[in-house]
Order: sequence, then structure tokens, then C-alpha cells
Amino acid sequence: MRDLSRCVIHPAVSHEGFASIGVPTYRASTILFDDAKSYTNRKYRGPDGYTYGLHGTPTTRTLEAQLTALEGGERTVIVPSGQAAITIVFLAILLPGDHVLIPDTAYPPCRGFCENYLKPRGVEYTVYDPLIGAGIDALVKPNTKLIWMESPGSTTMEFQDVPAIVKVAKERGGILTGCDNTWATPLLFKPLAHGVDFSSEALSKYVGGHSDLLMGSISVKDVALFRRLKDTMRMIGIGVSPDDCGLALRGLETMGVRMRHADAVATAFARRLVELPAVERVLHPSLPTCPGHEVWKRDFTGASGVFSVVLKAPANAVIEEAFGVLKTFAIGASWGGTRSLIVPMAIKADRVATDWTDEGVILRISVGMEDPDDLWADLAALFAALAVPVLGG
Ligand SMILES: *Cc1c(COP(=O)(O)O)cnc(C)c1O
Repeated sequence: MRDLSRCVIHPAVSHEGFASIGVPTYRASTILFDDAKSYTNRKYRGPDGYTYGLHGTPTTRTLEAQLTALEGGERTVIVPSGQAAITIVFLAILLPGDHVLIPDTAYPPCRGFCENYLKPRGVEYTVYDPLIGAGIDALVKPNTKLIWMESPGSTTMEFQDVPAIVKVAKERGGILTGCDNTWATPLLFKPLAHGVDFSSEALSKYVGGHSDLLMGSISVKDVALFRRLKDTMRMIGIGVSPDDCGLALRGLETMGVRMRHADAVATAFARRLVELPAVERVLHPSLPTCPGHEVWKRDFTGASGVFSVVLKAPANAVIEEAFGVLKTFAIGASWGGTRSLIVPMAIKADRVATDWTDEGVILRISVGMEDPDDLWADLAALFAALAVPVLGG
């Protein structure tokens, strides 16, 4: 072998006697075949086999297998974002003339996808009250092919009666169900165990856990559905970087302790916030005032660190100024990382199937890993500033 070839062709070294705890990052576009025949027959390797880097490397497969085990499924596909974990399901299932039901509390870009992408292509959608439960039966049409859920609802924390909705879909026949499980992660709720066909996660949140990664997953029990998802991804031409999968695998290792910590701190904060004068309502599942509290107690094994506070309307006037007191909380979208975040959310204009009557702004809080006393000092100062107009000061 001459030097120029030596530069290109890596020597094979032994893996014998080497074992690391971390999962190696295997990057690849090209995947090599032993002979011309195995190359020619590569499509018979199926969606689990290795054929081309876009469709996965051992790093991707490790993350898929780990999530499959946590979700209690048969297969998982990894996609480039949590939003893609929603849209790939819709694209795999819905054809022109079909109908999909989505909750009024769906992650807002989900509704945007239905309105601006699916509708012009002949797929109808109806937005439903997330607390509808078995009443969803009245909204099912002959062409309904998918009922989408998100529990709890983004920002407003409605916990959906997933088993009741799944029962309707199964009784009607020919209707698949999917649930965006990002808030709970499979540690707190397992949609597939309740008969849901697609469990989708934004891995960008708790699994990544460090606010530096964008990824999603879809887990299923039915291998035929897995094939449809994989086919859709192959046709569109999307896959996920093995480097990012490596980050997700690392994040997953600490997810349990991070979430348990966030739950304890957020639950304690929620109870204290209820008492403050600027606060109209606290939307945290441990409080009986949270919509779907009974469902949460029945179906979930805990809470994550994300919850919301509805302000009394007069506080709206001073929000921008009041946020200036924050020292530890950061202001930014997304959540589930080590850094605690708080953002003001206006949701009224998003509602079409339910009335949102509160005039006060909603503050969405994600509890991270900083010292809880520093965090509480921030919240105490913030809510004191927000209380000034409420108390008529
Ligand atoms: C953040 C989020 C998504 C989208 O995830 P991205 O990776 O940011 O696209 C989807 N659903 C829910 C419930 C989310 O919170």
C-alpha cells in the first residue's frame, strides 16, 4: 500500500479486551458490504439492517433500542426534532380525503402543520377540547384516521383521559391514536401501555437534558407501523446525526435523577406560589385545581419540573419590568434542561375549541438543577414585583 492509500484506508485494530461504558459514536454515510451480492441484496436487510448512514448506525440503533425498552414498545424511530416526531406520524398515516383530530392544547406548530401543510393537500382536521374524554366519539367522522393527543397540554396543563379516547378509537375501528408524551417522558407515563399506537417525544427536552440538542422519537408496538414511519423518513430523506444520538444517550443516563429532583422542587414551589397575591391559579398536577388532576393521579407516576402560573390580570402591566429582577432563572423557550427557565405565554388567541377566559398572562416555569433557594429567591422577588398593581400599590 502506498502512502496516499494509507492516508485513506484506516487499519483495522482489535476491539478485543476493550469495553467502555459510553456508546461509541459511529458516523457514516457509506456502509461497506462484504461482496457484490450482499450489496445487490441490501434491501432485504429490512428497516432494522444497516444499508446507508441516513437510516442509522449502531449509535442510532442503541438509542432506538433504549427508548423502545423505556416506552414498552417494539420499535422506535429517531427524527430530527420533537416537531418532526409529530409530523412524520401524520405524513405516514394521512392521505388526501382523510381526517385527523388534534387537541386545542397541541404544541402550536402541530396545529400550524395541519392548517398550512395538510389542509391545502386535502387532509381535514378538527380541533377538540382536550378534556373531552369519551365525548370525542361525537367528533369522529367516517374518514377519521388519526386521533392525536398531548397530555398534559402545552402550557395550560390539561391532562387528557388517554384510555377513554383510545377506547373510542378502537371501538370505531380503523382509527389510529398518537400521544405527544414530552412532558412526562416514558418515566412518568407510557402511552403504549394504554393502547396508544404512537408515543412521540421531543428528546430536545428531558432526554437531551442540557438545552443543546434537537431530536425527537416515535415508539410503536406494531412493526408494520414502524415500517411505514421508516418508509416515510426514507422518502423524505431525513435522518439524525449519530453525534446528536450520542448526546441523547448521555443525557438519558441522568434523566431519572434530574426529573425526580425537578419534580420535588417544582411541587414545593407550586404549593408556595398558590398563596401569593399576584397569582390567580397554579397549573401543577399535584394541585386539585389542575385540569385533569384525577387523571394524572390515576395514570402518571409523578410530575416533571414544568408547570404554569396564571397571573391576575392587573399584573400583566408590569411583566416586562418585573422580569428584570431575575438573577438565576433564564428567559427562553424550550425546557427540560439543567438551567431553570421562565417565559410569559399568551395562549388566548390559539384557542378555537375551548374558551380561555383568564385575562392574566401565563408564566411557564421549568425547574432545572440550580440551588432551590436561589430559585425561590428569584420567584419571591418576581411575584412581589408582579403583586404591586394587584394590591393597588
Ligand atoms: C418542545 C416540544 C415539541 C417540539 O420539540 P422540538 O424538538 O423543539 O421540535 C413538541 N411537543 C412538545 C410537547 C414540546 O414541548
